Amino acid sequence: MRTKIVAGNWKMNMDKEGTRALLTDLVAKLPQTSTLVMVAPTFVNLESAVNQLSGLPIEAVAQNMHFEDSGAYTGEISAGMLRSVGVQTVILGHSERRAYFHETDELLEKKVRKALENDIRVIFCFGEELADRKAGKQFEVVQRQLSKALFNLPENAWEDIILAYEPVWAIGTGETASPEQAQEMHAFIRKGVAEASSEKTADSVSILYGGSVKPGNAREIFSKPDVDGGLIGGASLKAEDFIAIVTAFD
Ligand code: PEP
Repeated sequence: MRTKIVAGNWKMNMDKEGTRALLTDLVAKLPQTSTLVMVAPTFVNLESAVNQLSGLPIEAVAQNMHFEDSGAYTGEISAGMLRSVGVQTVILGHSERRAYFHETDELLEKKVRKALENDIRVIFCFGEELADRKAGKQFEVVQRQLSKALFNLPENAWEDIILAYEPVWAIGTGETASPEQAQEMHAFIRKGVAEASSEKTADSVSILYGGSVKPGNAREIFSKPDVDGGLIGGASLKAEDFIAIVTAFD
């Protein structure tokens, strides 16, 4: 059985007090669940989140990471630094990083390798833009994004990879891929992983869907056989909504 995962990407939201309060609320409201639950606060609040969640069934993860160990990279954070404050998972390749910070497939390959070298699990985001889908190029785009950054990894590296398919046109727009569109793409991704690695890897890798998942649509999207959970933006900022999505599997 693949691990079911729901991860909240808090992006550039929540100051120190807001972070503490939302975590307290989440911890209080989270029922017993077999779903792996993660939240990604901003860097400045990450260490305190790790500490606040110590021993609890919610993991605090990072939103980004640099590919070098240290040096003259003003404003950046290394894998070793994340490890040193107890972070075990990082989101890489989010479409906002790709669009606003010009992160390329080549750069992301370096980041993925550096994270894995440091025993940091990767939630790898990818997905086509609206123009790609309109042109019928969504499969080609996704294949390219995965090939460059992940498809050359050795089989054992896949134990630390979580995939997050996020069609850019559905992120923060209120528009979701239909459950059928999500399933179609997730099946395509799983087939690609089988070809690049093995059937065993493809069967065990969790593939999350991201893009305007809300309490009202989570259950239908998560009911699809190749959808193993969600990466949630806006709806992860309200404890009730996030918990409703987490429990959509139950
Ligand atoms: C995201 O940013 O990863 C995301 C899926 O955002 P939203 O849920 O707000 O569309």
